[in-house]
Amino acid sequence: MKKVLLSMAAIAMIFTSCSENENEISQDQTNVDMSDFYVYTDADIDESSRSANSKSCYSMVNLNRQLNLNPGLEKKMYDVEYHTRKLIAGKGKPPGTGGGGSGGGSGDSDVDVLPIDDNLGVINIPVYVHVVYADANSISNSQIQSQINVLNSDFSNTNVNQLPSGTTFENDATNAGFQFTLAGTFRHNDSRSSWGTNDAVKSAYPPVTPETHLNIWVCNIGGGILGYAQFPGGNSSTDGIVVGGDYFGVTSGVYGGGRTTTHEIGHYFNLRHIWGDGRCNRDDFVADTPKSDRSNGGCPTYPTVHCKDADMTMNYMDYTYDSCMYMFTDGQRNRMRAIFAPGGARASMVGS
Ligand SMILES: [Zn+2]
Repeated sequence: MKKVLLSMAAIAMIFTSCSENENEISQDQTNVDMSDFYVYTDADIDESSRSANSKSCYSMVNLNRQLNLNPGLEKKMYDVEYHTRKLIAGKGKPPGTGGGGSGGGSGDSDVDVLPIDDNLGVINIPVYVHVVYADANSISNSQIQSQINVLNSDFSNTNVNQLPSGTTFENDATNAGFQFTLAGTFRHNDSRSSWGTNDAVKSAYPPVTPETHLNIWVCNIGGGILGYAQFPGGNSSTDGIVVGGDYFGVTSGVYGGGRTTTHEIGHYFNLRHIWGDGRCNRDDFVADTPKSDRSNGGCPTYPTVHCKDADMTMNYMDYTYDSCMYMFTDGQRNRMRAIFAPGGARASMVGS
């Protein structure tokens, strides 16, 4: 009998500690709904089935690979997301909603999101470029500078593209408030003809002070892949983005406008693809971008409707031609800048 009583006491203690834990969690998440958070996607299948002539970014494929290699990464990314949503919920309330700043996003393109006032001003991003080719001078200084110029244009909303007439997105394009400066160029003569998407080029030529600098590797990736990025929360030894030389800076062709780098930096700043790499119920965690169940290519006419709403095909985080990409939204701006706020995953870059 004594033994039974002891067991019951032990069980009671377990129940007590469990319920205390639950209280803690539910209290902590009062303002932050993380129920739609995801990290793994079907990108491995989606990207490999894409035709060689269409745009392909391997950031989500690389993320799947990194998640498998590093069991702690999912938790780190959850924490980054939690911090982002908490900050936006506190400071970026959509007007007329009475609060909430929906980190999960409603998927409604008519949602108006206010830019958060984060007191960070224009955030300067110093950039190191690693050119890795058999002839490392094949990417000229002027090509590199042309890329910096495109970034400064795209992230301040002063580019020359125009929205297709009749869209409902005219008021959503925003100045994200970032400025990029070239801090240095490293040229590596290397005869390897393609580097793939498994971070091999980063192992061969490690990033330089990734805590304070954006590192960009320019090399031939192979397989028709334009680029890939590492999301905030990943290992610093592989932090940065990789872009194929044909798509870096102002070159030629439909992806020659320098916007592959804009797109990859979007990921590096914590933006997901605008269609959420899934079906209609998968969001990109941004309230003022419409939901979609697929990427768009080429230069689509408006409206291109999926998931009952017109897709924002002209957003930098879709797969359209460079000349048909136009904008980040206020919701995307808030999400990117949250990474640089105190406690954010890239806060160490501010003021560097
Ligand atoms: Zn991408």
